[in-house]
Amino acid sequence: MNISGPLVDGFGRVHTNLRISVTDRCNIRCFYCMPAENVRFKPRRELLSFEEIERFTRVVALMGVNKIRLTGGEPLVRHDLALLVKKIAQVPGIRDIALTTNGILLAEQAQGLKDAGLKRLNISLDSLNRETFFKISRREGLEQVLAGIFAAQRIGFKKIRLNAVAIRGITEPEIVPLGGFAREHGLEMRFIEFMPLDADGNWDTDQVLSGARIRAALEEGIGPLVPLPVEDPSQPASDFAFADGVGRIGFINPVTQPFCQRCNRLRLTAEGQVRNCLFSTEEWDARAVLRSGGSDEELAQLVRASIGAKRAGHGINSDQFVKPERAMYQIGG
Ligand code: SAM
Ligand code: SF4
Repeated sequence: MNISGPLVDGFGRVHTNLRISVTDRCNIRCFYCMPAENVRFKPRRELLSFEEIERFTRVVALMGVNKIRLTGGEPLVRHDLALLVKKIAQVPGIRDIALTTNGILLAEQAQGLKDAGLKRLNISLDSLNRETFFKISRREGLEQVLAGIFAAQRIGFKKIRLNAVAIRGITEPEIVPLGGFAREHGLEMRFIEFMPLDADGNWDTDQVLSGARIRAALEEGIGPLVPLPVEDPSQPASDFAFADGVGRIGFINPVTQPFCQRCNRLRLTAEGQVRNCLFSTEEWDARAVLRSGGSDEELAQLVRASIGAKRAGHGINSDQFVKPERAMYQIGG
């Protein structure tokens, strides 16, 4: 079997973007993602090794994947992550490696990651208020996150994005300060609607603070926003700039404005399961192939089977929606 050839699903969507979770562990406990206590993490031996991740990446790169995002859990708690970045950067066909992090360990690792070939950073920042940060993440850490952001800027990372999950009843007072912070420091602020992927299963549509409401709050509190041209048709965010030219804001609205028809992403969980959607209820066991002496062709076939089974959309708003068994930290956001 010839491995090469694009990863096209039944709806004509071409998959070029792989999100790799490198761990289910995390150093904080955001309520929209993890349980508060007694988290049962996967034993180390169940996680893919860097060599296994690299091999998987080589195979999907032959099928047109050219962008990688490392995520978790918190990817920076995985020992020596820069080594994985370096391995992936050398895979032929991969032209972009990005990282999504909570930023707590970033100040100490940013230089090593940049040197290894990391191109872009998304840093989660839900609040600039210490109490609210604690209420959400159930841990201290705001100072470290801010230190991580500024260290990454000093080191020379460009176009750093900040991600805030928008939750009704919590995020409203944070909107204008976060928008102002992004303007002041030349960062892009992105607001992400709360999705039903919290470990505690408490998600409710009433808790979703829509991108439209956030936009209105920013326009009232800071100034008019104008839409920016779409750089990449598969991007999940709608990007805006303030009319005075200072500061960019992105809205990721999976609940109120699903973007599934433009999706080009596949996912690999930390223990080597391929998922064709964040909300997928089925997985394809790449680790079994990797650890049983399976060929690259078998691995490619497994990925094609996953993409072939991809549904048209996540269906969060439908009565038939089935919440995946895994929570966000076990999938990789
Ligand atoms: N630990 C890293 C971090 O927080 O950036 C990477 C993993 S985290 C699962 C990836 C992204 O998913 C973060 O931006 C986080 O805020 C977001 N996220 C987690 N749970 C979510 C939920 N239920 N709805 C929307 N976004 C969520
Ligand atoms: Fe950890 Fe990221 Fe989940 Fe927060 S969102 S608990 S930082 S994995």
